Amino acid sequence: MTLQEDFDGRDIFEALIDDLETSRARRDRTAGQLDGDMTTEALPTAYRGTIFRSALEASWAATLDSLGITWEYEPRKVTLPSGAGYVPDFHLPEIGTWVEVKGTGVPRIEKAIEYGQALACHCPRIRGIQHCRCRWPGGELVLIGHPPRPMHPWGDESYDHLHPYAKLRLAWRHGGFLRWESTRGRRTWLARCLDCRLVTWFDSARCRACRGPLAGARGLLSGDGEVEFIRISGSALSHAEPDSETT
Ligand SMILES: [Zn+2]
Ligand SMILES: [Zn+2]
Repeated sequence: MTLQEDFDGRDIFEALIDDLETSRARRDRTAGQLDGDMTTEALPTAYRGTIFRSALEASWAATLDSLGITWEYEPRKVTLPSGAGYVPDFHLPEIGTWVEVKGTGVPRIEKAIEYGQALACHCPRIRGIQHCRCRWPGGELVLIGHPPRPMHPWGDESYDHLHPYAKLRLAWRHGGFLRWESTRGRRTWLARCLDCRLVTWFDSARCRACRGPLAGARGLLSGDGEVEFIRISGSALSHAEPDSETT
């Protein structure tokens, strides 16, 4: 049983409407400011009616959907202890978790780290075990969402049986594997709780949703070859746009 087994993805109509929204948003956004450094990853992208700042963020939303995790995109601006304002990318209200998506070449994670420290609880630790009475075990968790680890069938013997062409296709179509990092500097696993059935991240042996013991649940680490990153590129339509938009 995989964590993503119930996922169907968007239907063709939803995808088409998103594609239209994406090309509109990219046209507005890039008129006159398209420079050589801009990759698709950094362009606005629609997914299920929400316009994300980048294709990477839209892909994170789709991947959270594939795990059955409820998300809110940029739900609020918070004030950090340092006084700085900060708008985290995702709030996952059912599992007491926030995600800041970090693109390649965007090192803007200091605020997420500060936010993670501000939300971590200070319940007492007795002999290494935290006696936490907070609503969320250890306080709300802030994660950095990294770009996925690419699928690389050539270095993995479980794909040895595939024809070279099939390997190429697999590497090309596969979104890679989900990667994350905790702002608490601790190992953080992803698992489905067998009590409440929700998929949650955890760094202590408690389900973040129901506080159950996660007995028998199998935890996955960042980059493990099981959770596929669902890539939302923003469509073929936008590639058909003429380049002469930048007047
Ligand atoms: Zn606590
Ligand atoms: Zn649970």
